[in-house]
Amino acid sequence: MSFDITAAENTLRKERAHLVHQLEDLGAAETGDLRADLDFGGSFADAAAVTAERTEVLGLVDSLKSQLDDVDAALAHLEAGTYGTCDNCGNRISDARLEFRPASVLCINCKSKIAS
Ligand SMILES: [Zn+2]
Repeated sequence: MSFDITAAENTLRKERAHLVHQLEDLGAAETGDLRADLDFGGSFADAAAVTAERTEVLGLVDSLKSQLDDVDAALAHLEAGTYGTCDNCGNRISDARLEFRPASVLCINCKSKIAS
C-alpha cells in the first residue's frame, strides 16, 4: 500500500481552514496577532478576570498558531515536491507517521531529539 499524497493534501488544507477559523473565533489573525480592537469584557471593574481570560486566549492562540505553522510547513513541502522528507536529516518519514499526522515535517527520530 503506498501513501496517498492527495489525501494528505486534502487533510492538510481542511486542517488549515479549521485552524484559521478557530483563530478568527478567538479574535486572532492567521499570523497569531490578536485584533487591536478585541474587547475582553468591556467592564474595567474586574481587571483580574479580564487578564486571566486574555492569558487563556493567548495560550490557545499560541497553540493554534504553532499547529498552523506545522500545516503550512507540510504544505510548502508538498508544493516543493519534498513532502515526506525529514526537514532535519533528509530521511524519509514513515507512511504510518504521515498518515497519523499529515503535518509531520520531521522523522520520528528527529522529532524525539528536538522535542521541545
Ligand atoms: Zn529526521
